[in-house]
Amino acid sequence: MNKPNIPKKILHWYDNNKRPLPWRRKNTKKQHEYFTLVSEFMLQQTQVKTVIPFFNRFVKKFPNLESLDRADESKVLKYWEGLGYYSRAKNLKRTANIIVTKYSGSLPKGIEKLKALPGIGEYTSRSILSIAHNKPYIPMDGNVERVLKRVLLLKNKDQISKENLIKKKTFFSNSKRSSDYAQAIMEIGALICKPLVPICTSCPLTIYCKAFKKKDFVINANKKLNKTKYFEARVHKHKNKYLLIKNKKFNFLKNLIIFPMDEIDKEKFQLSIDKKINIKLSNMNMKIIINENNNKKTIKNGFLLDKSNFSKFIIPSFTKKIFNSLPHLK
Ligand code: SF4
Repeated sequence: MNKPNIPKKILHWYDNNKRPLPWRRKNTKKQHEYFTLVSEFMLQQTQVKTVIPFFNRFVKKFPNLESLDRADESKVLKYWEGLGYYSRAKNLKRTANIIVTKYSGSLPKGIEKLKALPGIGEYTSRSILSIAHNKPYIPMDGNVERVLKRVLLLKNKDQISKENLIKKKTFFSNSKRSSDYAQAIMEIGALICKPLVPICTSCPLTIYCKAFKKKDFVINANKKLNKTKYFEARVHKHKNKYLLIKNKKFNFLKNLIIFPMDEIDKEKFQLSIDKKINIKLSNMNMKIIINENNNKKTIKNGFLLDKSNFSKFIIPSFTKKIFNSLPHLK
């Protein structure tokens, strides 16, 4: 396929259609690196529209790597509250410290050095290299993957394997504006090549796109399904106080405040007549029995918290969902 105009067309579309996201604001090089780092951490597992207000609040409080490095972890977590997946905030703070102390406040430019930082894996390191350092990388997120599968009409299991998609990514051979180019392809996926109904009439890729030619937009997924696990959460209530614990037991929400809970088997879950709720974490569907008939006042790693103080503590939205399902709020 002759594709000399692809970068030109994509960049032209991007220049005229990109969203004015706060981390894209014109900035000094250092600020641009910092905004890229914070936004990439926040965007792991979270949608753009959810991230925007958190990002604005966070960078107002911690305007650069140095201020983030100096801040107390509890303060950083407070400003992360509501975004969930708190390990990201802790890793971001640890990463800020390493960059300030070891790299004089500038993000490293090598992929291995980036991947060695807490909370930065393959995807985030490539995003940083392309977006912050203008290097010719295309990070493979869900949006880029969908555009690629449609443009090249990749359908069968071998074609949509991760290895093959990474090879096929070279279809988007790069331009000098690597940062804009990577963001442009992500943006086409987010705004135009939508999962259910792509808006092909607005797309700069129509003349190259096999899906468009065949009018076949079905995407075959290669994702593993999330595991479903079953839990029993025990609500111990004394007047207006609830017994909560610092989680030392489960690998998810480690060291954060949760209701005391145990993993149970499917049969026990199905037989229970207690209230049941579902909560989705990044890699797990949780089906939870809410057992309200408990009256312990103490428990290892536990403490009683007045319900009026819920907003003053750093409580994961996971725990708030259980709290909000209790009858006192109805
Ligand atoms: S032409 Fe349509 S299907 Fe092809 S990449 Fe663009 S929006 Fe997606």
